[in-house]
Amino acid sequence: MPAVRMSRLICVPFDQLNADHGALKSADRDTDVIVLIESQRMIVGRAWHKQRLQFLLSSARHFAAELQSNNWSVEYLRSDTTASGLKEISKKYPDLEIVCAAPNSFRMRRELSEIGVNFVDNDFFLTSQELFTIWGNSQKTFTMENFYRAQRKRLGILMSGATPVGGEWNFDAENRLPPKKDQDWGTTISFDLDLIDEEVMAELPDTAWGNLKSKIWGTSRAEALAQMEHFFQNHFKEFGPFEDAMPASSWTGHHSLLSPYLNNGLLHPSEVVSAALQRFEQGDIPLSSCEGFIRQIIGWREYINGMYWYLGEDYRKGNGLSANRKLLPLFQDSKKTEMNCVKSIVKDIEDYGWTHHIPRLMVLSNLALITGVKPQEFLDWMREVFIDAADWVMVPNVIGMATHADSGVLMTKPYAAGGAYISKMGQFCKECRYDPRLRTGETACPFTTLYWDFLDRNAQMFSKNHRMFQQMGGLRKLSNMSEVKDRAQQVLNGLDQGLI
Ligand code: SF4
Repeated sequence: MPAVRMSRLICVPFDQLNADHGALKSADRDTDVIVLIESQRMIVGRAWHKQRLQFLLSSARHFAAELQSNNWSVEYLRSDTTASGLKEISKKYPDLEIVCAAPNSFRMRRELSEIGVNFVDNDFFLTSQELFTIWGNSQKTFTMENFYRAQRKRLGILMSGATPVGGEWNFDAENRLPPKKDQDWGTTISFDLDLIDEEVMAELPDTAWGNLKSKIWGTSRAEALAQMEHFFQNHFKEFGPFEDAMPASSWTGHHSLLSPYLNNGLLHPSEVVSAALQRFEQGDIPLSSCEGFIRQIIGWREYINGMYWYLGEDYRKGNGLSANRKLLPLFQDSKKTEMNCVKSIVKDIEDYGWTHHIPRLMVLSNLALITGVKPQEFLDWMREVFIDAADWVMVPNVIGMATHADSGVLMTKPYAAGGAYISKMGQFCKECRYDPRLRTGETACPFTTLYWDFLDRNAQMFSKNHRMFQQMGGLRKLSNMSEVKDRAQQVLNGLDQGLI
């Protein structure tokens, strides 16, 4: 039999590991060669979290092995970058067209288009860039809630004709419960290491950060599906009411832990939404939980990705508050702080590479914001330590939501808060040497002190913002501002030295 002539090289980036989507959707098993490239820049370029490297590399190797066992021709190689790997493989298969679903970052799109890769549609999201651009161009402010409502209508999810099921678009008021004393947070699942996992683990570079003791993140499609099933059976019911709660006894709360799998392609948002709606139809899941979860997928996730592309590549350079402090040592070592909330949360990140959106936003990002850490340093850190971090997630989240470095393009006001919010929604303050009610003195909560100092430092800018009216009124009423400012300086010096 004459040898089959191969016709295309299909490049599968490590965040597009799905046989039914991206370039693989239209690939031909007989004539296409599937190419996966382990880029050294992705492995040793920075101090990436061990959990993150393990998850991404092992998932890709499992995916390549599955394709091979299903009779695909697969080339899996290591190279300095994805682009250099594609050039190498092109020498082995000269003159073949290289095809890839449009990559998920500006840099990768640029690098691959420079070497002549042809892009096909990226369908790893539910909203195309074209559609998002139409929405963005029609808005005065980019309010996520408006986008979310348009998504519900467009996709026909949780709709009863033209009105939302249950008569409300969201149930935020029901979904802000703090953790209860002795609350049972249910179980998490872990997975057995197989030969591929062990091989990857043995190869992790010395530059990697954090801890990796057991396999808490699945690395195959089957394990991603098992995680999804575990969530829907064990946590979905209570997800909504407690989605903002920060328990001290559980690193997961009732969260799904599905973002890593959605972001590397092992799960597709459409199947997660379908599974959620099917589970909801069984009748024992409150609408507040179902709606809250659906909003994360069809609202927030799509909105953040849409805004990443809509705002352009230079958006990441913003520093509207002129924040230039170096990254605080406590972000890289939980032992470098006595603030119990920060210590516990950074320890969770060291161990798992994950914490949910409220510790990320209201503790870690809040601290970076009110201490004036340079947004780009904080962005780098967030990219390195979170298992589900991707450029498209972190750039709008850090530059827009977390640090207000875009001067309010994404969010009309900064997410700054004192210790009172953390005390209300978390279980850390009782065991802390600081007191969330105090703003001055040795035992004052650093969040509370720095919150007022932050407002004061940026008073000129914030006094023009009508959404900051209440906060600025509170600032004007403070009688001991000079004492607060003295304490704030001590706290900032102590944080820089890892002593607070
Ligand atoms: Fe965190 Fe302040 Fe509470 Fe301590 S008192 S746990 S620093 S919020």
